[in-house]
Amino acid sequence: MEQVAESLDVQKMHDLYRAGGEKRLMAPHIVYTDPLCPYPDCGQQLQAIDFRLEAHGPAIHDPLVLSWWRDVGFAGRCPKCSNWIHFTIRGKRPISADEADALPKLPEDWHQQALIL
Ligand SMILES: [Zn+2]
Repeated sequence: MEQVAESLDVQKMHDLYRAGGEKRLMAPHIVYTDPLCPYPDCGQQLQAIDFRLEAHGPAIHDPLVLSWWRDVGFAGRCPKCSNWIHFTIRGKRPISADEADALPKLPEDWHQQALIL
C-alpha cells in the first residue's frame, strides 16, 4: 500500500510541475539521470540540456514549449551520431525517423543554440 501511495505522490508532483511550467511558458531545460546519448557507442554527453528555444523565434519556440510541458516532448537529432532522440520531461529515448515525424521537431541546428552539459 505504501508503494502505491508513493507513486501517486510522484505522479501528483509531476502533474503540478508540468502545469506550473505550461502556465508560465517556462523555457524547457532538463537534467537527465542518464548522462549520455541513448544510442549505444555514441558517447555524446547529453545530461543537462537548456534547449534555448527562444533563439529560434516564436514560430518554433511557442509550439515546442507547449509540447514539452504537455508531456509530448519533441524529437531532435543527436549532435554526434545524428540519430533521432525523443526528449521529454521524463527521459530521452532512441526513436526511428518515422516516430520522429509524428512528433514536434527541434530545428536541425538546435544543438548549436542549446547549452549541453
Ligand atoms: Zn548520439
